[in-house]
Amino acid sequence: MTMGSENNTTRVGFIGIGNMGGPMAANLVRAGFAVTVHDTNPEAAKAFAAEHGGTAAATQAELGAASDIVVTMLPTGQIVRSVLLEGRGLVEDLQPGSLVIDMSSSDPLGTRELGAQLARRGVALIDAPVSGGVPRAIDGSLAIMIGADDPAAVARAVPVLNAMGAKLFETGPLGSGHAMKALNNFVAAAGFAAASEALIVGQDFGLDPSVMIDIMNVSTGRNFSTESTIKSQVLTGDFASGFALALLAKDVKIAADLAEGIGLDVPLMRQTSSQWLMARDAVGGDKDHTEAIKAWEHAAKG
Ligand code: NAD
Repeated sequence: MTMGSENNTTRVGFIGIGNMGGPMAANLVRAGFAVTVHDTNPEAAKAFAAEHGGTAAATQAELGAASDIVVTMLPTGQIVRSVLLEGRGLVEDLQPGSLVIDMSSSDPLGTRELGAQLARRGVALIDAPVSGGVPRAIDGSLAIMIGADDPAAVARAVPVLNAMGAKLFETGPLGSGHAMKALNNFVAAAGFAAASEALIVGQDFGLDPSVMIDIMNVSTGRNFSTESTIKSQVLTGDFASGFALALLAKDVKIAADLAEGIGLDVPLMRQTSSQWLMARDAVGGDKDHTEAIKAWEHAAKG
């Protein structure tokens, strides 16, 4: 994390004070930025300002007027586009020369379209989605994937991003960060699904799931989910990783749609996406993504 008072003059607006946005914006306040926050849930913005400082904006227009750089950390790219462009979109309240950093896990083609529309208004866009989940949002050590067409916009964003992340990667043109993020989450989601199916089969055969995970974690089957979320959320029955099922299902679908859009036949990606969409519909999108195993267990038993 880069701390420092040199950041005091940059006014950063942060939209989407949720599981990830809350701790990320708190790190911006801590780093010395003049932070204004907004959320459609006004309590979230007020509670944030009371706990961390910064200013709670009642409307996105108020936030726009108070920001040189706007960070979006919203559920989907569609919501990011609607915040900026629909009705009296936020773009109306931004000065030409402003920068928008979309840190949500959005769809790459939508991001490119948004970039073109904002550019017509003199507003720059970069995509900078993150990985690491809530724990690394809290300690400011997220991995950040930066897609941008304009190196000057990246240079402006780096001090802001350094306050939230430990590893910054430039992945290529606008939308490439969002493509990378979706592909990463496909790999993570496939790993979770593979470990879940192994547990479902093993348990039915008489193996102890917790012994299975201990064995996998010192064997070649280990992955992020066996080491982290399956151990800490599934085996404990907590199901509270802070990452909603609808959001992970959305990410895997973005990866599968991307593959289809460029004419590639990748059956595992397609199948993984449909498994997660099925789990979302069966268990509920607002549930923690780790609850997907319940849907698959139910389906396996017919
Ligand atoms: P969340 O649902 O906890 O937070 C989203 C926030 O946006 C909510 O507070 C909601 O009220 C607000 N919001 C929704 N529509 C709005 C609008 N039109 N204007 C203003 N505010 C609005 O979601 P999250 O888990 O923080 O995820 C945010 C993004 O980060 C998603 O794209 C997600 O895929 C991605 N992500 C999440 C995680 C994780 O572990 N939770 C990790 C990496 C990336």
